[in-house]
Amino acid sequence: MVKTNNPLIIAGPCAIESKNQFFNIVDEIYTFTDIIRAGVWKGRTSPNDYSGVGERGLNWAQKVQNKYSIPVAIEVGTTKHIELALNYNIKILWIGARTTANPFAIQEIAESLKGVDAEIWVKNPIIADVKLWAGAIDRLKNLGIKKLKTIHRGFYSDKKNNLRNDPKWDLLYEFQKIHPDLPIISDPSHIAGNSKYIEQISKQAMQKNINKFMIEVHNFPHKALSDKQQQISPKEFKILLKKLKIYSR
Ligand code: PEP
Ligand code: MN
Repeated sequence: MVKTNNPLIIAGPCAIESKNQFFNIVDEIYTFTDIIRAGVWKGRTSPNDYSGVGERGLNWAQKVQNKYSIPVAIEVGTTKHIELALNYNIKILWIGARTTANPFAIQEIAESLKGVDAEIWVKNPIIADVKLWAGAIDRLKNLGIKKLKTIHRGFYSDKKNNLRNDPKWDLLYEFQKIHPDLPIISDPSHIAGNSKYIEQISKQAMQKNINKFMIEVHNFPHKALSDKQQQISPKEFKILLKKLKIYSR
């Protein structure tokens, strides 16, 4: 086992589905994670797929922050999302893989974040183009945004060996050469696409000295409204952390 120093754990549902679902999940995991993740707007591939609870979810996220004294990270895809999230005191915002692939969207988002005191995480773009990924980071850096991290969630590919997204570790390495200062968060849930591969992907990330992990956790994974195959239960999440020896709280 690779020794993991100062790990950072981010866990929570792919999407908030109801107040009860969200609070139940947080209640079970808040002592095992540093940050709660949750989607309130889901930019799904198909408009017929579950698209999230919207602003109501921000209200619940704020309540969770107050009740459990734990930060909540939310995905934002538009400047309106950013404005709303900040209104509810959400201080960690992440940009999803589909948004990172669009330089117009990233530029607009970067401009709206100028001078804002929030931490920004940028997922790698859905397509395997390291320049597009690095360029998105440049756009944010150019506007003076300093509290930045990037999330490795793998890339769309037709050759992915049972995984939902190809990790392309060599491309991550290329990215690290361009932005060596940028902390990397691994998202084994979206790379794997299936709960049974999450441990293996996490271990591969640890071999590459990654010590930050974002894991999707749902109280009833098989009933989840999005990404049901890859979400794990709070119990499975605790077992995973034990196997990986990456307790951080
Ligand atoms: C998510 O984190 O739930 C998500 C939609 O991820 P991605 O942007 O990596 O597809
Ligand atoms: Mn998801």
